[in-house]
Amino acid sequence: MKVFNAGIAVALIALSSITTGLAQAGQETARPTVAVLATGGTIAGTAAQDTQTTGYKPGVLTASALIASVPALDKVARVQAEQVANVGSDNMDNQVLLKLAKRINEVLRQDDVSGVVVTHGTDTLEETAYFLNLVVKSDKPVVVTGAMRPATAIGADGPSNLLQAVTVAASPEARGRGVLVVLNDRIGAARTITKTNANALDTFKSSSGGYLGSLVNQRPVFESTVGKRHTTQTPFDISKLDSLPKVDIVYGYQNDNGYMYDAAVAHQAKGIVIAGVGAGSESNFVLPAVRKAIEQGVVVVRSSRTGSGYVPADEAYPGLLGDDLNPQKARILLMLALTVTQDQAAIQDMFDTY
Ligand code: ASP
Repeated sequence: MKVFNAGIAVALIALSSITTGLAQAGQETARPTVAVLATGGTIAGTAAQDTQTTGYKPGVLTASALIASVPALDKVARVQAEQVANVGSDNMDNQVLLKLAKRINEVLRQDDVSGVVVTHGTDTLEETAYFLNLVVKSDKPVVVTGAMRPATAIGADGPSNLLQAVTVAASPEARGRGVLVVLNDRIGAARTITKTNANALDTFKSSSGGYLGSLVNQRPVFESTVGKRHTTQTPFDISKLDSLPKVDIVYGYQNDNGYMYDAAVAHQAKGIVIAGVGAGSESNFVLPAVRKAIEQGVVVVRSSRTGSGYVPADEAYPGLLGDDLNPQKARILLMLALTVTQDQAAIQDMFDTY
């Protein structure tokens, strides 16, 4: 009897190890592949003290080190690490933007890749995310994430944000929604998400339309969709570009000066975005300089320095309407628009559509 029982036990153990093996093999084939493209920022930043949340060095840790620090990623996806840059996002420029976007399009053409995560400094994260939202040519998820606290800080948010970003990028539900921004349990749309606080953890807010969803127990829950067109629905093809047209932003304020516009024109700006007061209003002090810039062929777009709300048509103020894009995102769209056309009506149409 004892022998019989032992025999059954051995058989059961053998059976269970075969089943576990099969389950693991099944899990292995079921796990999607997500490419993590790292560009630097606080998520890759380190400080001398674990209490430091300012005065640290961004863009220190590599893509592989970030991934290795979150073992839970392994259950969610097969993660491929790639370093595209390692800078604070204040130093992001058009060259890195183009390099990043081209690489994402290349990676997404691979059949075995389900989605992409970009790790990025939070300061200009929304600009990169919106740029990608306009130039990525795939329905596969592209998720941009970052962190407000360096990797060495007590309560660092990077590991959790990275896990959530990879989870969303691996999710079939995230397909076709445009580029997403995931931080702090929230899923935002690249077009509307914006950094609202210089220090706080919950800094990313959706300027209009709310968030697209959130993560509950690491499960993405989508609540809404993006109305404006994006990714495969835009005419922007950056595959052959190695630079972007120069577009500057000029800020509106009491007693402002026309010479800021003159300076932009003198430096060969092809476009100027006005961060106007209120609903994109321009003062009498700058109007002559704005009109002169337009006469010289510069495309001027009005936006609001409030960072949200729509800019209405108003004959008193020259310039195209930036819809509800904040100035920094209006600059991204104007750069791309100018790669396609100089026609004012066509550019206005793009601002209404994307
Ligand atoms: N200065 C940093 C950056 O944008 C801030 C951050 O990542 O949170 O790179």
